[in-house]
Amino acid sequence: MTSIGVPQRRVLIVEDDVPLRSALLEAVKQGGFQALAAPDGAAAVKILEDVSIDVVLLDIGLPFVNGWQVLSQLDAQQVPAVIIISARGDERDKIRALDMGADDYLAKPFGAEELLARVRAVLRRSEPDAGPSLVVRAEDVTIDLAHHAVFRGGREIRLSPTEYVLLAELAKNAGTVMEHRKLLRRVWGPAYLDERNYLRTFVQRLRAKLEANPEVPRAIVTVGGRGYRFGEPPVPD
Ligand code: CA
Repeated sequence: MTSIGVPQRRVLIVEDDVPLRSALLEAVKQGGFQALAAPDGAAAVKILEDVSIDVVLLDIGLPFVNGWQVLSQLDAQQVPAVIIISARGDERDKIRALDMGADDYLAKPFGAEELLARVRAVLRRSEPDAGPSLVVRAEDVTIDLAHHAVFRGGREIRLSPTEYVLLAELAKNAGTVMEHRKLLRRVWGPAYLDERNYLRTFVQRLRAKLEANPEVPRAIVTVGGRGYRFGEPPVPD
């Protein structure tokens, strides 16, 4: 997986269960990543302050500082991609994790291949696009697709990798309705076609960051029952 000259991406594993932590470390190294591990939330926060991390695999049930607390502290810092790994497969936990800024959620038990696929997917979302310079605007939101930069008014807005990819999918198709399933496939992948909650949660997150009034969205518009549209449809001739 590792090419010469390309720096290895760093994955931080935050898990208190010793055998599981070792297994995750091994799997992540086998996947071609540099792996670091922390046994609890406090140690994780310390590592995140000192080392640039690309992806955090974060267990929720941790001693002292739990995963939710780590997640709430992460938001203010440089945002790595976060994949929650949780023993609780419950839908409310999943939505809470996504609401708090996680990029994905993986319920235990899971296989090494699935874990690595998720890590690669969140990393793909954080890679800059190659391609022509393209700037899309709606309301006071400006998206510079070539530079992965998003502005509201003149101010740059920091988005998580997944928030950005969703917004970019909408912006590349500005003025047209993007169907729910099409967005889910393009942003999360074919296994997520029915995960409407992911989409709803991330659209809410984007609106909270980008809309003057998130309750009355004007940039990211809901098109009843079908999907979402960025900006106004083109005016017919
Ligand atoms: Ca645990």
